[in-house]
Amino acid sequence: ILAVGTLAACGGGSRSDDAKVSGGKGFAADATIGVSLPWLGTQNWKEAETMFNDQLTASGFKPLIQAADQKVPQQQQQIEAMIEQGAKVIVVGPIDGTQLGSVLSKAKEAGVSIIGYDRLIENTDAVDAVVQFGSVRTGELQAESLLEGLKAKKGDGPYNIELFGGGPADPNAPNFFKGAMSVLQPKIDDGTLTVVSGQVEFTQVATPDWDNSKAQQRMDSLLSGNYSDKKIDGVLSPNDGIARAIITACKQAGQDIPVVTGLDAENESVTWVWEGKQWSTVAKPTDALVAKSVELIQALQQGKELPAADYKADNGSIEVPLYELSPVVVTRDNAKQVFADDPDRMALLK
Ligand code: BGC
Repeated sequence: ILAVGTLAACGGGSRSDDAKVSGGKGFAADATIGVSLPWLGTQNWKEAETMFNDQLTASGFKPLIQAADQKVPQQQQQIEAMIEQGAKVIVVGPIDGTQLGSVLSKAKEAGVSIIGYDRLIENTDAVDAVVQFGSVRTGELQAESLLEGLKAKKGDGPYNIELFGGGPADPNAPNFFKGAMSVLQPKIDDGTLTVVSGQVEFTQVATPDWDNSKAQQRMDSLLSGNYSDKKIDGVLSPNDGIARAIITACKQAGQDIPVVTGLDAENESVTWVWEGKQWSTVAKPTDALVAKSVELIQALQQGKELPAADYKADNGSIEVPLYELSPVVVTRDNAKQVFADDPDRMALLK
């Protein structure tokens, strides 16, 4: 058993060569496949909706895709309806990783396989696999990029910074923050970084529902309360929408733009990175994550054993096979390399 620092799940875990999932009996090649998304509020989820539709259809399946607008009961009902409509697999990006136990038990009883998508599904044994980009790793990359940006744009420290986290119900959000703090805490301790507001706990910095306008309000009050006579040099942002909200608040407060991180390589933020307004983002290509999900669905359809997982993640109830892809930091310097195979994003780099 190796200690794995970048494990995306709670607690620890082990690299597993034996994380095999037994194949079921298989099902019809044109079966209905459910996809339950948490919302369509960020570009990655809208892409997931389109790409699941395209890739499942191209593979001969009938996609049944719904998004739940950040409302847990709505997501529970949508999953129930998918079970009733005979879905053989349901792919779930949970709003709240801990709130789907009973509906997923029903799915399990009905013989439906469940694949967690982009986010871990917690405290239930009714999950067969999870596909995601390393979430602790994502946070580490954001923090490393913040430090690099500070050095490049703001000279030698010490630096004044603030920290933002994502939505507290999303199991990714604490992991992003945990990864980031593993890099930033030593620099806070040695005086390189000062979090002027003193807000360094996830509960203090989280952004309810990943709501950009709430992040902007928090940034407004951080600036008016702490920076009337100070410059802000950098801000850790968990995703691109929140990054743009932070940058907007700083501009409105008459601050120079600080070094701000992001996530998702949203079109608007790729443009801002290219124009030098946002320092960095982290790319986690949706097409690759959807393709991984469809690969697992095809194995289930054929009644085959799933391919060996990268890790097993303790979800609080069982060890879930986790298929993990690697996120990549994007700055102005490497954007053209990172997006070489992505004509839509390449078109933004003009
Ligand atoms: C996803 C991010 C997304 C955020 C808000 C996270 O779980 O990993 O890509 O920006 O949710 O939708």
